[in-house]
Amino acid sequence: MSLASGRDHLAIPGPSVMPERVLRAMHRAAPNIYGGELVDMSDTLYADLNRLARNEEGEVVIYIGNGHAAWEASLCNLFNRGDKVLGLINGRFGLGWVDMAASLGIDMLRLEGGSEEPVDPARIEALLREDRAHDIKAVMTVQTDTSTSIDNDIQAIRRAIDAADHPALLLVDCIATLGCQPFDMQGWGVDVMVAGCQKGLMTPPGIAFAFIGPKAWNPDVRPDLRTPYWDWVNRVTTPVFAMRFGGTPPTHHLYGLRAALDMLFDEGIDNVWRRHRMLAECVWCAVDAWQMEGGLRLQVPEPGHRSLAVTTVCSENGAATALREWCETETGVTLGVGLVATPGTNTSDDLFRIGHMGHLNPPMLLGTLASIDTGLKALGIPHREAALEHTTQLLARLIAERGLR
Ligand SMILES: *Cc1c(COP(=O)(O)O)cnc(C)c1O
Repeated sequence: MSLASGRDHLAIPGPSVMPERVLRAMHRAAPNIYGGELVDMSDTLYADLNRLARNEEGEVVIYIGNGHAAWEASLCNLFNRGDKVLGLINGRFGLGWVDMAASLGIDMLRLEGGSEEPVDPARIEALLREDRAHDIKAVMTVQTDTSTSIDNDIQAIRRAIDAADHPALLLVDCIATLGCQPFDMQGWGVDVMVAGCQKGLMTPPGIAFAFIGPKAWNPDVRPDLRTPYWDWVNRVTTPVFAMRFGGTPPTHHLYGLRAALDMLFDEGIDNVWRRHRMLAECVWCAVDAWQMEGGLRLQVPEPGHRSLAVTTVCSENGAATALREWCETETGVTLGVGLVATPGTNTSDDLFRIGHMGHLNPPMLLGTLASIDTGLKALGIPHREAALEHTTQLLARLIAERGLR
């Protein structure tokens, strides 16, 4: 017997909870793909995706695929075999993108920041200053690394590149963060950004995006890694609707995405970011309030280095896995597995992740935190009392102050 027989709550860092409005928009008969409503509706998606990313002067391509597809598409369209690229690593996702680039034949320079803090932008600047011949073609980084929940300061990375007076492009993976936390492609000088639909954009996994800023958009240059299917020039310039997708469009995903973007703009993107910040602060408050010898702690010590979309929690003696399994069976909350930052290992029994991205409000998040609190008691995992009391006091304060922040 368990109490899990209500609505299941998925608190993993992607795919995130799918809103009814998105699901309803997808529940329809197959549309014509050669003209009519789908084609007209899709035009609005490109404009609104660029509005969301603040890339109004650039281009955006929709690929059928997951985040990994957008990773590969961005690399293929920008580089030749043997090009030198600087990759920042502070977790499994930064590492995954860098490894993919290396396996494509790109000459990767790796800057590791460890698993608790971002790479220091001063190290980026120093490395670029040494590259007097300007061999390094680009700097690539994740905004949030979803394994460690480290957040990189993208503006600081751009400042480091500029301070070195280096022409390298800046490539950013916002797969975890687009629609969750501030991002301004143009304002921050990002040249290429990749994202998926299943995290902050609340749409079932299946489509991904490459945003291309003016400096990275060179339709007359053909890098030798570019293959016909991923070719973003064809996809942007084709007059044939289906060929924007390299074939049959992802019809129902497009309707789902339309509904998701409507939800984000109806709420107001600044409010969406503010909501994510307030909910993230509740998670940090609860974990800090539980913390004691032998119990849980946040993986990222410095609040300014933490993601607003996901939080990684560390434990001892395998408590994370025990807690995750207890919450799933006994309460119906699914927490994210712990992904280890270093290669060679995979999941860890002393890490779990709380996804707080997308379609999420206080009852959903407080329910998750209260389930964890109950699990700590049920399993005898060391923790301090009254963490939920601290958290709701903080939330009340944040709500009272929201106009000022
Ligand atoms: C989820 C995620 C990915 C991988 O996306 P998939 O859709 O699983 O391929 C890559 N990078 C980051 C930062 C992510 O959060």
